[in-house]
Amino acid sequence: MKFGGTSLGDGKRIRHVASLIRRYSEENELVVVASAMSNVTDELIKLTSIAESGRENEVDELLERLSSQHEDAIGDAIKDEKISAEVWRYIQRDLDGLRRAVKGVCYIMEATPRTRDLILSFGERLSTRILWGAMLDFGMPAVYLTGKDAGIVTDSNFGEAVPLIETTYLNLSSKLGNLISEGKIPVVTGFIAADTHGVITTLGRGGSDYTATLIGSAINADEIWLWSDVDGLMTANPKIVPNAKVLPEISYAEAIEMAMFGAKGLHPRAFEPTIEKGIPVRIRNTFNPEKPGTLIKKSRVVSGDVVKAVLLVENVGMVSVRGTSIVGRPGTAAKILDAIARRSINIMMISQSVSESSISFIVKRDVLEKAIAAIETSLLSSGIAKDVEVDDDVAVVAVVGEGMKGTPGIAARVFKAVASKGINIKMISQGASELNISFVVRVAEAVDAVRAVHDEFKLGIEN
Ligand code: ASP
Ligand code: MG
Repeated sequence: MKFGGTSLGDGKRIRHVASLIRRYSEENELVVVASAMSNVTDELIKLTSIAESGRENEVDELLERLSSQHEDAIGDAIKDEKISAEVWRYIQRDLDGLRRAVKGVCYIMEATPRTRDLILSFGERLSTRILWGAMLDFGMPAVYLTGKDAGIVTDSNFGEAVPLIETTYLNLSSKLGNLISEGKIPVVTGFIAADTHGVITTLGRGGSDYTATLIGSAINADEIWLWSDVDGLMTANPKIVPNAKVLPEISYAEAIEMAMFGAKGLHPRAFEPTIEKGIPVRIRNTFNPEKPGTLIKKSRVVSGDVVKAVLLVENVGMVSVRGTSIVGRPGTAAKILDAIARRSINIMMISQSVSESSISFIVKRDVLEKAIAAIETSLLSSGIAKDVEVDDDVAVVAVVGEGMKGTPGIAARVFKAVASKGINIKMISQGASELNISFVVRVAEAVDAVRAVHDEFKLGIEN
């Protein structure tokens, strides 16, 4: 069971989570994974950049805030005074480690990716320690471990480290397997691992999900539950589509697709470990634990159920590279993509016309300028491309569903629904997996486009 940051948002919530764990621990063997308390990772990122600019007073203030936030949480989460005193001692030790790391950054005014990971790791260390204490308070045999202690080993790609799967599985299954067979309940920090030299790494934002699926797969769990603050994955964002409903069941491939497009901040790689072993993943709500949530498992395509969800991706920009010299010249697309990749910019969507005279792609808006600079320096100057055009008035609508594969007429229905609202489509892409049809529209028309497709496939609750 993994608990997200909002579920651990304050001391009362942490206590509530501990009570949920107790309820399920009566009939199951469990491993618990915890995220940082809500916003703490963001605060630690902010702390790092303040430290990099050497603003020591602000650093002290922020550290003080983090300290009292966690101190308050202990007060509400743990009733037993001896346990809370012990937890507070551990927390102070961690806060001291954090303080020293951040002060170091202050003095040299620079944070390397490695230092950044060290600093970010404290969010999970602090929250998990409090959850551990709350579990002890309820009389559970909890054992605290960091992801590193548990045995998650990664490469040294700080900030987005990739687990060395076989070693990690071996370590996790022996370490956690032993604790479980002794009747203990391991409580593991999400997000954190270590490289082969023992240096702390992190698995990328939202990485606690990944920690949970790695552990679940390593120990051959019956199910992996990701507890968060939503009733499950939905047919659309209910903020823009009021009759959107929770999906009772989807496939791994659909879940990955939804994660890539930002649904509920799931880590896109989180499902990799579970697919191989076929372990079902359930998304559940700590604030509404009676609801069954969404079950994610091996695909079982039900006919008629072709489109599952319609997602809106905002804060993106479109770059189009034109030039007749692109036509018929093998390797141009590769050069364009390479120029982008070398700046570590992620391309979310891509499309090239058959005439080959233009290639368009979508990136996050905050890296748009960087992408253009990359194209300009490496392609315009060498004459490979003639012209680069940017459009930041765009949003992506992604239509997801495994049943679309091989079902004729889905694309026609999608585009007809959008056209009937008078909305112009700027770019289209469908992967060969036919799992996802994505298209780009103007920002002002994006919500209507989502609603049109959602209605066309009758995805919502009927009234
Ligand atoms: N605390 C980390 C983050 O905010 C990891 C996680 O929550 O899964 O990205
Ligand atoms: Mg999270």
